[in-house]
Amino acid sequence: MKKKGVYPISICVIFCIIFLPTFSSPSLSTNVYKYHQVAMGTFIEITLLSDDEEPARKASLQAFQEIKWIEQLMSPWIERSDVFRVNRSAGQQWVKVSPETLEVIKRAQKISTLSDGAFDMTIAPLVDLWRKAREKGIPPSSEEVRRLLPLVNFRDLLVHSEGKVLLKRKGMAIDLGGIAKGYAVDRAFEMLMSLSFKNLIVNAGGDLRTGGTNNHKPWSIGIQHPRSNEKIMAKISVSDSAVATSGDYEKFFIHQGKRYHHILNPKTGFPANGCQSVTILAQSSMMADALATAVFVLGPEKGNTLCQKLEDVECFIVDQAGKTLLSPNLKARVAFIP
Ligand code: ADP
Ligand code: MG
Repeated sequence: MKKKGVYPISICVIFCIIFLPTFSSPSLSTNVYKYHQVAMGTFIEITLLSDDEEPARKASLQAFQEIKWIEQLMSPWIERSDVFRVNRSAGQQWVKVSPETLEVIKRAQKISTLSDGAFDMTIAPLVDLWRKAREKGIPPSSEEVRRLLPLVNFRDLLVHSEGKVLLKRKGMAIDLGGIAKGYAVDRAFEMLMSLSFKNLIVNAGGDLRTGGTNNHKPWSIGIQHPRSNEKIMAKISVSDSAVATSGDYEKFFIHQGKRYHHILNPKTGFPANGCQSVTILAQSSMMADALATAVFVLGPEKGNTLCQKLEDVECFIVDQAGKTLLSPNLKARVAFIP
């Protein structure tokens, strides 16, 4: 394989802002420990509240291992990964995948149905075309895009009850880039919870899950301004919730004044153009991650309508003109930064 990395490194979309206790009595507060590693092409940050450092450090190492294990299963670049094997056998034979990959594929299928195909893991041939275009800085021709479109259809990925998967046609491929990071965050988060850490954040480059509180205060999560690098546009207060953002500012190039980014509309084969960024709050990180991508593709109106239909899902959308659209339940929890 040409590519060594799994997913290109992306800078954090969301910054966790930890408000250290200022007024609470020191005897009641717990220490905040932070650990970092790079995996799945991004920075992973684990924040744990703990009385002792050693158990926190050990637990974080286990959680990083879990994330790397998911990467081994779902990276399209690692030759023995489930995704690599499924893609290599497209149009030829059924491939047995791990229960983890099966779970992600099934959830991806559900989000595809919910979003009427806006989220589609069989987008891989077009992701590849646009990745090469990004490297050259020149968009592909409409003809090149049109030729690949018939390979994209989540209904042509068949799942057998025995845990086998088949892509119907040669040339088809899956890409779990819009959902796998969220799943990895959930796995790490659940492992840390099982090790008795109840107040925590697992953050994979902006896709994150929070548990409990930060010394009895809600966690405060910053949302990056889509057009001002490093500027936080708003803060959302959360506890026991996952937050994920999809933006057009992470992987993109500008050609003749037009921005071409990495979130593709499976119907047109071109980058989706209704939003600058979409942040989703949901119960699981996998759901938040995949829905952020889906809502981004659907655009502000349809995307917001979808979120309102789903239980425990909130959205914060920045549309193409920079205008924000918030779901009603979120308004009281958001503070805009001037
Ligand atoms: P990021 O991974 O940068 O945080 P996303 O979660 O939105 O952003 O995922 C974008 C990735 O998802 C792309 O790099 C590509 O691998 C994949 N992707 C792009 N368009 C779609 C789509 N319409 N449906 C599903 N996956 C997509
Ligand atoms: Mg996503």
